[in-house]
Amino acid sequence: MLEEAAEMRRSGYQVVDAIVDRWSALPDGPPWRAATRDATESLLHGPPPEEGRAFGPLLQTVLHDVMPLAGRIDHPRFLAFVPSSPSWASVLASFLMSGYNVFQGTWLESAGPSQIELTVTDWFREWLGYPEGAGGLFTSGGSAANLMAIVAAREAAGNPERGTLYMSNQAHGSVGRAARIVGIDPDRTRLVPTDRACRIVTARLREAIRRDREAGREPFCLVGTAGTTNTGAVDPLEELAGIAREEGMWCHLDAAYGGFAVLDPETRPLLEGLELADSVTLDPHKWLFQPYETGCLMVRDVTRLESAFRIMPDYMQDADWGHGHVNFCDRGLQLTRAFRALRVWLAVQRYGVGAHRREIARGIAIASRAAARIREERELELLAPHSLGVVCFRFRGREGETGPERGGTFRSSPERIDDLNREIQDRIVASGVAMISSTRLAGRFSLRFCVLNARTTDEDVQAILDRVVELGRELSEDPGRPA
Ligand SMILES: *Cc1c(COP(=O)(O)O)cnc(C)c1O
Repeated sequence: MLEEAAEMRRSGYQVVDAIVDRWSALPDGPPWRAATRDATESLLHGPPPEEGRAFGPLLQTVLHDVMPLAGRIDHPRFLAFVPSSPSWASVLASFLMSGYNVFQGTWLESAGPSQIELTVTDWFREWLGYPEGAGGLFTSGGSAANLMAIVAAREAAGNPERGTLYMSNQAHGSVGRAARIVGIDPDRTRLVPTDRACRIVTARLREAIRRDREAGREPFCLVGTAGTTNTGAVDPLEELAGIAREEGMWCHLDAAYGGFAVLDPETRPLLEGLELADSVTLDPHKWLFQPYETGCLMVRDVTRLESAFRIMPDYMQDADWGHGHVNFCDRGLQLTRAFRALRVWLAVQRYGVGAHRREIARGIAIASRAAARIREERELELLAPHSLGVVCFRFRGREGETGPERGGTFRSSPERIDDLNREIQDRIVASGVAMISSTRLAGRFSLRFCVLNARTTDEDVQAILDRVVELGRELSEDPGRPA
């Protein structure tokens, strides 16, 4: 299994070349290619070989048969879900952290890397506006961060037997899943209604808390979202933090998608209040241009995290060493941890905070210009106020044609408009023009895109809108169109 240095260099350079070739040709191909299980199985499934094979042909198999059958999430017109477009320095950091295989669980085994994680989380602390004493750790992603936050909240509340958890009906699915993992019964998890801007209705939240207290339950944690996955909506963060304080609850803010927009001075006011939360989830693999899996949990009083997670088995006694030496395994779920912080450190050092700030602002500006066009164009409409980089909209046809005055035509029924937009989405994705996703808003089908890729331009997004309008016209004029 040990290879000669010359062979390692040869295969290593081949991999670098393959990645650079892919990045250079990225906009040329489609943003997404799928395959059925039957197809992938006949192409790729097989027993492991007893004897090894040459690297070159294996790399070709990976490059030609495996990697192309996947979303190219960093394609400039991949705008579905929440995209990601890692910077080159962060990708190189991934290679380095594997090649050095740092054990980032204890100070004893990783003093330098642990310092980098302390330093990078301290940058995040400042960006959020958290006080001294706040800190956190890198995680596999936002889901893991949300889970750990809820564990920390539960421990801080003294592990209440009938603890209740609150979030809006727009909260990310990982929060509900975290509650399930933690063992909070579904009947103690409250999904609070949202207003027309998809923000939590705090009066309803207060009411739910009051009713639970009256019923002898113990409200212990409130989860707000700073940038929902659905529409980019930001809950009223300061108010949520205030309610949590009054009620003696933990306030967790899920800023996995929106958090790094604090770097943009124009957007910062929208995120005011993040610094008041007990904990904040961030996802550098979203809006900080990092590869998967780079997530982060920040906690206002980091000792809370350590009291929730720290254990000290005998075989780890050597790791309890020195003064102020942080064992990151004490702050979360994982003992063996990769040196994820290196990705952010290297990228921020290489390009500067400024480049990251500018890219975030540029993505928001592209989304606002698209939303402005949708507002102006008669045949399109926004289905939610656009927020951060997310735009939810649909084709509604020419004025009058969707209204009751044209009752009897297919365009008049909401279901038909849903079908029409679903068909538009299918055709856009199938044609390879772009990858956009859909969602449901107030019961209606919505097209949706999210801009956060440094490669995405105004032209890309405007071309998608052109295509939506073209297809919408074409399909609504086609009487033979399947309903
Ligand atoms: C993406 C996202 C998550 C989940 O994060 P992962 O990194 O996918 O685990 C949680 N909350 C919000 C708001 C998100 O956008």
